[in-house]
Amino acid sequence: MLSRPGIPPHPWVVDVAVVVVGIGLGAAVGSTVTTETRSQLSQPGGPEIFLGSLSGMAGTYLALVMLLLVSRVPPVERVLGQDGLLRWHRRLAPWPLGLIGAHAVLLILGYALAAHIGVVHEASAMATSSATMLAATVAVIVMIAIGVASIHQIRRRMRRETWWLLHLFMYLALALAFAHEVVLGPSFVAHPLARILWSVAWVAVAALVAVYRIGMPLVRTLRHRLQVQEVRPEAPGIVSVILSGRHLERLAVSGGQFFEWRFLTRGMWWQAHPFTLSARPSPPYVRLTVKAVGDFTDAVGRLEPGTKVAIEGPYGAFTVHAWRRSRVALLAGGIGVTAVRSLLEDLPLRSQPIVLLRATSAEELVLDDEIAELARVRRGRVERILGPRHQVSMEREIVKHIPHFRTRDFFICGPEGFVNECRRAMASLSVPKDAVHHEVYRL
Ligand SMILES: Cc1cc2nc3c(=O)[nH]c(=O)nc-3n(C[C@H](O)[C@H](O)[C@H](O)COP(=O)(O)OP(=O)(O)OC[C@H]3O[C@@H](n4cnc5c(N)ncnc54)[C@H](O)[C@@H]3O)c2cc1C
Repeated sequence: MLSRPGIPPHPWVVDVAVVVVGIGLGAAVGSTVTTETRSQLSQPGGPEIFLGSLSGMAGTYLALVMLLLVSRVPPVERVLGQDGLLRWHRRLAPWPLGLIGAHAVLLILGYALAAHIGVVHEASAMATSSATMLAATVAVIVMIAIGVASIHQIRRRMRRETWWLLHLFMYLALALAFAHEVVLGPSFVAHPLARILWSVAWVAVAALVAVYRIGMPLVRTLRHRLQVQEVRPEAPGIVSVILSGRHLERLAVSGGQFFEWRFLTRGMWWQAHPFTLSARPSPPYVRLTVKAVGDFTDAVGRLEPGTKVAIEGPYGAFTVHAWRRSRVALLAGGIGVTAVRSLLEDLPLRSQPIVLLRATSAEELVLDDEIAELARVRRGRVERILGPRHQVSMEREIVKHIPHFRTRDFFICGPEGFVNECRRAMASLSVPKDAVHHEVYRL
């Protein structure tokens, strides 16, 4: 018996969400515009103060949207996947940061002009004028520090865990910014209804983050009580971890999806890392297969039976639900076989999948027998592409092994270099973009 099938995505949810977010932005900007009078605008510093208020309102609204994106609300996550949500989060990030920075600069300038004093004098007077202004100053400094740390060249040099801990301070900055805004924002002073609506929006988004990032993972962890049963070597540096748990038949998960895993040992409990299920759960067992590439994945190979495990997920849109055309091909690079192996299980019999497994040597082809058997019962076939990177052209291999490639859906999974090479090959072979689904094993 397998666990419950995963819940299918509904793409219209994202369309509705985009419309709602757009209306919200219009309302936030509109509420600032309508509170401004012509006489206020004609005063010295009036235009700067107006633009400062506007950019503050728009900036905090977009920060709220960014928070919504990291809450990973399941109906949206199932359509966009965690990587899609993070992509939007990163794309959006410069806007709220830029707008909130502009808010601070414009207001200092505007009030300095209004009071006929220097900007440095005005800035220090403003920052210390009240508790909420002090809170706002701290919030802007924290946001700018995190913004700078997120610049690709700087972030690359940081340990992922350091960057993540630093990022947590954004929650504090947003709480401070919100407190400052509802007390002093022109859209809220003397507008109790606007203040209530804005507060409800923030509390609702905070509740979504708390429910989906903390509450649900806690409930799932306690419900399933997963613990390590066995760590089985698959190849040099690659192990399968078999976990046992309770009520796994109730865990709705699709092949190709992943969880964030937290192994509750002394050195590992504080980090969660993503690993795809390398087989659909078969109650009371689930399995993941892990390649050692760093500290955490090294330590996975030394896990003791009985180690308790906390989970967050399932996540990911790399599932059979993305399949649209009649034919299908699955391409796995290295440890990307995990998603391909579990996704194969969800393909119907007679789907005749073509599976390309790419590795440097035969030794690295893990789960090979299982994949061959799953493909065989679906009347498909498996091709193995071995050899060093510089000797293999994925474009040539696709043309050689996959007939009708313009009328197939492609599922590609593996390290970034492999996925990018396959995507370039697809583009040059004129495979439609919406036929290419991919999961990169790096966030
Ligand atoms: C959606 C997804 C599914 C994955 N599934 C598998 C799988 O089934 N089997 C497997 O062996 N590997 C999988 N990975 C990769 C695995 O998560 C990383 O190899 C692992 O987190 C590295 O941790 P480390 O501390 O050992 O190595 P590090 O030295 O910290 O990192 C090595 C590489 O992994 C990336 N990485 C590190 N920590 C994380 C993290 N928390 N989240 C995302 N990326 C990270 C880094 O960008 C770096 O490139 C998956 C990754 C993603 C994003």
